[in-house]
Order: sequence, then structure tokens, then C-alpha cells
Amino acid sequence: MSLVPDRYRAVSVLDVDVPLEAVALHALLTSRPVYRRTRYVVVRGGGGTALVEVTTTATAALFYDVADTALLAGPGETAYVHRPEVDTGVPSELVRAAQDVPDARCVVVEGRYGHVSFVLDPDPVRLHVLDVAPPWPAKLVDQVERVLQTAEDLPAVLPVPRVVELADLLPEPRAEHYLLQCRGGGMDVPGSAVSYLDEVPPRRDWTLLGCARSRAIHDFLYEGQVPQIDTCPRSLARQVEVPEGEVLMVKCCLLEEETETVGSTVVVPWGATFRHLREGLDAAVALAGRDDGTPSGTELPP
Ligand SMILES: [Zn+2]
Repeated sequence: MSLVPDRYRAVSVLDVDVPLEAVALHALLTSRPVYRRTRYVVVRGGGGTALVEVTTTATAALFYDVADTALLAGPGETAYVHRPEVDTGVPSELVRAAQDVPDARCVVVEGRYGHVSFVLDPDPVRLHVLDVAPPWPAKLVDQVERVLQTAEDLPAVLPVPRVVELADLLPEPRAEHYLLQCRGGGMDVPGSAVSYLDEVPPRRDWTLLGCARSRAIHDFLYEGQVPQIDTCPRSLARQVEVPEGEVLMVKCCLLEEETETVGSTVVVPWGATFRHLREGLDAAVALAGRDDGTPSGTELPP
């Protein structure tokens, strides 16, 4: 069971000169009171780090006596990392930092503002994010990462980018002429002519490289049939394998305001706002069965 403390205030850091073993740490930590919010103590000594949970005896005082201790992770399985860019109050950020130390059961992160927190036995929701590119960076992946950077009330989510390069969707031999949605993506097809639908060019014998919405626009603007390579991530999702218990997020050209879930897939609007993405992340967490209201360890006393 993964554990992330609710608040960095629940975590205190203590440099000690006793061995980082259960008996010695118990003797030390029960010999002195701790600040009333303290639930976990990161102890450092002899070049190592360990994590101890303390059980306190509540009183009216600002400092509580420690009644008992439990060594949650010893020095052989705990890493202490400095990540000044990481907000340690955000579970997904802690888990992202912990990715750099995959062998450690417990990763203590000293992050932004000098705050220290940890993740024990990281078990994030693995969210595969399917997007097409260019443009680079793939927008949906980038936006999801940015929303997760401040998602302090969500359980840890680890995005797994699944970016499909548009050029890889073009079968050989290439068509002589491709019609793309717009110039903004910066896509180039060497050896083929390229036009852009949003510029409403004169009709040519082209292949439309675009989504269902582009096709509808094409049908409105031009006469006759057009060969199409469907680039909507929702269509491409059929080719993507997602392991059991993990979730897929895609965007779809036909959604404008609503978010949908289909099986273990969350579909967000093509032009998703941060609010849409937050709704999509809430849905992904629910699909993964992690929306039980206890994203991050145990409630603290007031
Ligand atoms: Zn679509």
C-alpha cells in the first residue's frame, strides 16, 4: 500500500547519532516530545536515511509525548533526494521525483521551499496519454503534466506518454499531395505537396490527413469524396494496448465541452482546457479505483 503524507507538516527531519535501527530509534524518539502535527520522522545519520512513524499521546500542549514508534523503511531501502523544483505537497510530483530512484522502497524528497516529504512503496495510477504530434511538445501530454504539478488533492498519477507521430501514419508510397488541418503544427512531408485546410486552398487531388471534424469541414467546403487518414487519437486508441488496471486518456475532435469515459479510456475535448483535464484526471482516478477519498495517507488530528 502506497503512502504519501497529507501535509509536509506531518513530517519532521531529525539528524541522529544512533544506529538507524528500530530499537535504537524507538529509545531515542520516545525520550522526547514531538510537535503535535508530527506523524512521520525522517531520521538521518551515518550517511543513511530511515523513516519512522510515531504514535503520540494527545494533550493540550503544542508538543506531544511519543508513545510508540514503527520503523517504516530502513536505511537500506530509503533514498534522500534534493529536487528544488518539486512541490512535495503534490503526490504526483513526489512520485515523479521517486522515478529517479526506482530501487528505493521509500524516497524522501527535499523540494520547493525546502519542504521535505516522502513516498513509501509508490503505486501511482498509470495514465497512458495518447496524443498526435507535431506540434511538439505533444499538447495533451504537456497539459496533463502541468495540471498534475498542482494537483495536491489527487492521488499520485504517473503520465505515460504515448505519442503518435503523424508522419508514421502515412503509408508508403506517399501520396503526391496532403491536406493538413493547419500550418500551426509545423508538419512537413518530404517529397509531397502540402496544403492547409484552414486556408481553404483551391481543390486538388489530395489526401486529407485529419480528424472527423476536418473531414466534416472538407465536406462542407468541397465537392466529392476525399481519401482520408484519420488522425483523431480516439480512433488511434484502438491500436494502443493498455495493461489491466491502467487508464488511457485521449482527446477527440468531436468533443467540445464534455468529458467521456469508455471502458478504461477517458476522452477529453480536442481543445481541452485545464478544467477539462482536471475532470478527465478525476475520471481516470475513479476508473483506476483510487477515488476513495484517501489519496494520501491518514487524516491528521487538527
Ligand atoms: Zn475525434
